[in-house]
Amino acid sequence: MQTGLFFGSFNPIHIGHLIIANHMVEYGDLTQVWMVVSPHNPLKPKKTLARDFDRLHLVRLAVEDNSNLRASNVEFDLPQPSYTVDTLAYLADKFPERKFTLIMGGDNLASLHKWKNYEQILEHYPIYVYQRPGAEKPVFGAHPNVRIFEAPLLHISATYIRQARKEGKSVRYLVPDPVFEYLDGSDMYKK
Ligand code: ATP
Repeated sequence: MQTGLFFGSFNPIHIGHLIIANHMVEYGDLTQVWMVVSPHNPLKPKKTLARDFDRLHLVRLAVEDNSNLRASNVEFDLPQPSYTVDTLAYLADKFPERKFTLIMGGDNLASLHKWKNYEQILEHYPIYVYQRPGAEKPVFGAHPNVRIFEAPLLHISATYIRQARKEGKSVRYLVPDPVFEYLDGSDMYKK
């Protein structure tokens, strides 16, 4: 089973993320995409990062009506900071029936050479890349394991959503309905 991994802090998840995940299921050969929630690194205090389980809960709400998408908390129990190469090795071991593919934006691919053991990642895992606006042809773009997709992009970010919440604005339509309803009844990102 070809399984895509889309890593993020998802603070909170928004429809920009979901459009990419769905695009990779529809246009790539992935059976499922897992939204892998990065845990809060205790060594890096970040006030604006909501609690791990709250972010995970929102991802679960966002994907609950789509069997092609799943929320993953695999990195919560791995040593921190979690390096992608280690997470991939752990997943390959734990789910031998699955083949994992990385999903990332062209901007991330451009800095892949700084990742721990990036040669190993490139060698062993397909990487599906979606172009970001203004991005040049990505480095490694011609690597046989890299496949470039022209996915529709929305100009929204979690930062924008947090700011809107802080200002008391509605984030309806920027996040899936169940996430909107949850946020609407909570004070998450309001302070
Ligand atoms: P923040 O604004 O807090 O930095 P974010 O919206 O960029 O958050 P992340 O959790 O960092 O969200 O996103 C996970 C991945 O999704 C990152 O690789 C990020 O570049 C990418 N991403 C974020 N927003 C979009 C978008 N609108 N379209 C496509 N990819 C996106």
